[in-house]
Amino acid sequence: MTTPRLVVAGSGFAGLVAALAADDLGIDTVVIEKGMLVGGATALSGGQVWVAGNHVAARLGIDDDIASGIAYVRALTASHPDLLDEAVMREWIDTAPAAARWLEDLGVLTWEIIPGFPDYHYPALSGTRPEGRYLTPAPFDGRRLGDLRTLLPPPVHFPSGVTYGELFAWGGQASRRNWDQALLAERRAHDVLTFGQALAAALLAALADRGVPVHTEAEVVSLVAEDGAVVGARVRRGGTERIESGAVMLATGSYDSDPELAERYSGTPAPYAGSVAPNTLTGDALRVAAEVGAEVRAHPAESAARLPGFRLTPTFPGDTGDRQCHEHGLPHAIVVDRRGHRFCDDAFPSAITEAVLGQRGPGGEYAHLPFFMVWDDRHRRRYGLAEVPPGGDYPPGTVTSAGSLAELAAGLGIDPDGLRQTVARYNEHADRGEDPDFARGARPWSQKFKGDAEHAPHPNIGTIEEAPFHGIELRLAMTGIPAAGLVLLTDSRVSDSAGEAIPGLYAAGSSTAMTNSGAGYNSGFSLSRGLTGGLLAARHVASLARPH
Ligand SMILES: Cc1cc2nc3c(=O)[nH]c(=O)nc-3n(C[C@H](O)[C@H](O)[C@H](O)COP(=O)(O)OP(=O)(O)OC[C@H]3O[C@@H](n4cnc5c(N)ncnc54)[C@H](O)[C@@H]3O)c2cc1C
Repeated sequence: MTTPRLVVAGSGFAGLVAALAADDLGIDTVVIEKGMLVGGATALSGGQVWVAGNHVAARLGIDDDIASGIAYVRALTASHPDLLDEAVMREWIDTAPAAARWLEDLGVLTWEIIPGFPDYHYPALSGTRPEGRYLTPAPFDGRRLGDLRTLLPPPVHFPSGVTYGELFAWGGQASRRNWDQALLAERRAHDVLTFGQALAAALLAALADRGVPVHTEAEVVSLVAEDGAVVGARVRRGGTERIESGAVMLATGSYDSDPELAERYSGTPAPYAGSVAPNTLTGDALRVAAEVGAEVRAHPAESAARLPGFRLTPTFPGDTGDRQCHEHGLPHAIVVDRRGHRFCDDAFPSAITEAVLGQRGPGGEYAHLPFFMVWDDRHRRRYGLAEVPPGGDYPPGTVTSAGSLAELAAGLGIDPDGLRQTVARYNEHADRGEDPDFARGARPWSQKFKGDAEHAPHPNIGTIEEAPFHGIELRLAMTGIPAAGLVLLTDSRVSDSAGEAIPGLYAAGSSTAMTNSGAGYNSGFSLSRGLTGGLLAARHVASLARPH
């Protein structure tokens, strides 16, 4: 019997897990990565992996189980039950705890629970939990990567080196003034990695230890099919093309940086779209798989996470320059549209996205595009913005500042009267930590993750009154999570339009339609889908090779 072979396209979590699992099962494996760097959106991510009923929570005595996880996913998608495929959803939730444990048992990484971190919709939806479901890698020693260390992108979105527990103890991700800079510097000096960087690094190190090749700047450009089965992939590298034979796992991530696909499926008009994921995510899986008859399914645009963000200058290979805006959830800031009106719970990123994309004006136009964050100088002094530390000066050309709200409105193209009235109304209740209009920061998640734990009476609410005032136009930054993808059958097999598996073709992670998670979104779903998807595909390839 010949050794089975798996060609993995993409070196994000889904691809790296698939490669590791395949190698573990005796499959000859190669990883093909288009970018100069490894890890895709995964390496830039928060590294939160949502696993209901996981072994780490059980170890800590946290009450949870798979059935509650399933109940939550169903509740999330209650408005669109047709978007949920029960079989693949159950397979995902059932497999995730074992998949997480398998990585730990293999010695690839150690998982930690993100302490005190609730599901997005806790306690509103059934099946939710106040903590225990977010796994994240324990600090990982980047020096273990040796020469491969240069293949990881810098951690531009998260302070790699510290843990979620430390971050929360310092007042949260957005509250940078309390970050222990000395500790951060020490962790950097010892190349301690956390968040998505640790996830990518741990997997990359494990593959290197096992001798699984990961070829960068190599791109899967099409699939090779024989008699209706996929038997390999055409790979372009350095101007030459060759065929890698074997079953193919497509783990090429989302389509964030393909403007046509991003607008078609995620519904964000190009000038307002962006991505905080690498610019190599161009929907390649959809294209190459469609050529062999794969079915692509689009979920409503809202099901893809897009976060308020803004654009800076790119700083590393593959960087779009877009940065996630964490600061909108802090006190002394609000989000308004061109009329100067608030329009949602503007401390909760998904609420902003839903309102911006979901609410139309009388002529069918987006009611809240363009949209802006507006804040006062206390916010600047206390929190900073992206890489600008608290009290720092904003880089020229990024932020508009003015001595009055009227001047700020004029500078940003916002209606001055609308903005003045909105701020006055917001301030009326803000001192009491209340927002009767939109219940800003009512979700425990926003308080914990987007607020300032030291700000009383509410971590997300504070008046806007100290000049100078500041504002920036926001864009809807994609995060490597698409609304459309390849339709999967169980075992990560790619379906054709008749609902039959295309032999030899697998997909996982953000290349796949969210038929397992349905219409709703919770952070951590995405990496969790990649984890189980990668493992299931490898097992299926191995099962075909085994004698019956
Ligand atoms: C800032 C940020 C924070 C996030 N935080 C979280 C979080 O905490 N939890 C969570 O679940 N999700 C999070 N996400 C989303 C999550 O990171 C992605 O959805 C997930 O990493 C997707 O994994 P993947 O393996 O499918 O694809 P990716 O990690 O995006 O990897 C795809 C890889 O495929 C490569 N590729 C593309 N085309 C080709 C080709 N033709 N041939 C070869 N290679 C190709 C790409 O270069 C890329 O390296 C976050 C994303 C961002 C950007």
